[in-house]
Amino acid sequence: MHARPPSPAAVSPRTSRRRCPACDSQRSPKPARPRLGTTGELFHFARCGDCGLMFVTDPMPEQHTLSVSTGRPWDPASLPAPRFRPGHFYFAAAITTYVRRAPEPVSLLDVGCGGGELGMLLARANADKLRYVGAEPVPNKAGLARARGIEVLELTADQVAADPAQAGRWDVVVLDNVLEHLVSPLDAVRGLRGLLKPGGVFMIAVPNLRDVRRLTQRRFPLWIPNVHINYFTNRSLRRLCRLAGLTPGYLHADLRGLPLRARLGWGGKQLLERLLGLSPRGLYIVARNR
Ligand SMILES: [Zn+2]
Repeated sequence: MHARPPSPAAVSPRTSRRRCPACDSQRSPKPARPRLGTTGELFHFARCGDCGLMFVTDPMPEQHTLSVSTGRPWDPASLPAPRFRPGHFYFAAAITTYVRRAPEPVSLLDVGCGGGELGMLLARANADKLRYVGAEPVPNKAGLARARGIEVLELTADQVAADPAQAGRWDVVVLDNVLEHLVSPLDAVRGLRGLLKPGGVFMIAVPNLRDVRRLTQRRFPLWIPNVHINYFTNRSLRRLCRLAGLTPGYLHADLRGLPLRARLGWGGKQLLERLLGLSPRGLYIVARNR
C-alpha cells in the first residue's frame, strides 16, 4: 500500500511538530529528507539546529504514546520464553554495577517495562539489594511481566508521573527505549522527574542516530517511523536532561559474564562516544536529579 504524501493543508497544527521536542529550541528546525514508515506512509523529518535531534514533524501518529503495540496474546499454561536483546544484557549490567556501588538498597521503577525482560535479568543479579517495579500500560505485556514474577503498575508514563502515591519515592527511574516513541520527550522527563527522591537518577537508553552499525550493516533498521519519531544523538539526549533539571553522566557497566554479542565493540566505546558521539549500540546514560 502506498499512501500519497499529505498536502501542507492536510497537516493540522495539532498533528505536527514545528519545535524541537527535545530542547524546545526557538530556531526553526531544518527540513530533512522524508522517509517511508513501516506502514508505507511518507513521514516528514527535520533536524534541530541547536541540539541535533532528528524528528518526525508530520504526520503525527494519533495517540502515539507508550502503547506502540498491543503485544501478543500469550497462554498462561505455557509462558513464552523471554526475548532478550543484546541491549537488555548491556543495560542490566550497567544498572547492576550502579546498584552494587550504591550504599543502600535501591528502589527502581522501569517505565515501559514491556514483558519484564530487563526486570528478569536484574532480579537474577541483584535479588537482595534491588526492589524492581515495572510500569506498563499494555495489558498483554503487563500481564506477561506479572506472570514472570514482576510487580507491575498498569499505567502510562503520564499516569505514573501524575500518581501522588509514586511521587518522590524512587531511587532510579529507567526509560529503556521509550523516549524515541514520545511526542514530547522533554515534557515526559520533566513530569517523571517528580518520581525521584532527591539525588535520584534516571537511567536512559535510546537508539543512537550515530550508531556505527549504520556503517557496517546494510539493513540496520534505524529509520522506522511511525514506530520511532525521535532520533537522538549524544548531544541532544544530554541537552534534554539538562533542560529537565538533571545532570547527565556516563553509565558504566561491569561487562564480565556478559554474552559475547553484548561485549563486542566495547574496546573503543568510551572513545567513540566522548570524542565522536558515535556508539556501537544505542545511547545509555545516567542523569542525576539536581
Ligand atoms: Zn533541539
